[in-house]
Amino acid sequence: MPNTTTLRTVKNLRPRSRTGVAIAAGLCASVAVTGASVAAGDGGGEPTQVFAPATATQLADATGAQADTQQAAAEKAEELEKTWTSPIEGDYTLSATYGNSGDRWASGHSGQDFAVDTGTPVHAAHSGTVVKAGGNGAGDGPAYGNAVVIKHDDDTFTQYAHLSEVDVKAGQKVSTNDEIGLSGNTGNSSGPHLHFEIRTTADYGSAVDPVAFLAKQDLKL
Ligand SMILES: [Zn+2]
Repeated sequence: MPNTTTLRTVKNLRPRSRTGVAIAAGLCASVAVTGASVAAGDGGGEPTQVFAPATATQLADATGAQADTQQAAAEKAEELEKTWTSPIEGDYTLSATYGNSGDRWASGHSGQDFAVDTGTPVHAAHSGTVVKAGGNGAGDGPAYGNAVVIKHDDDTFTQYAHLSEVDVKAGQKVSTNDEIGLSGNTGNSSGPHLHFEIRTTADYGSAVDPVAFLAKQDLKL
């Protein structure tokens, strides 16, 4: 079995990065596939961090959905009459609000902060599909720490950042109020809290005022 040694080598890489997979694939494509499936199947420990690739579709979403979408998405959301919920249950303190200025934010604070202890369950504010999840702000940059982005059926997106634990993966469907992870203090964070955004695309730079948006869904934070 000449492949045995190679397989172990590939598995030991535990390809957590795309670079690792690419290197393995360069060594031997067929074995790399086997190694990847073994690595993916041995979960049960910490959640594997999954990064959604920047597909052409995502890029198109990011560039195509701008000001018009913000208005249209809000109107569609009203029609859907589906339940939205706070990402944090029970007691919480609202700290930094949308639009706050300060040296932590280059161009105003892009979300609503919930000051809660690290390890507080974080819930999906609305049903949808996870589109990004993992470290490095799930691809939006290290300031967000561990993060999750969910796409909703009204073409809005919610983002949850600075998590201590991510419990969902890209592609996973979630229902309103499902637990998606635990709050934390990862990334550029001044203390344990959940940073929560409403976005018009999956990516950084498309955030709208989450309190105003949720008020239109009859949810008062
Ligand atoms: Zn924040």
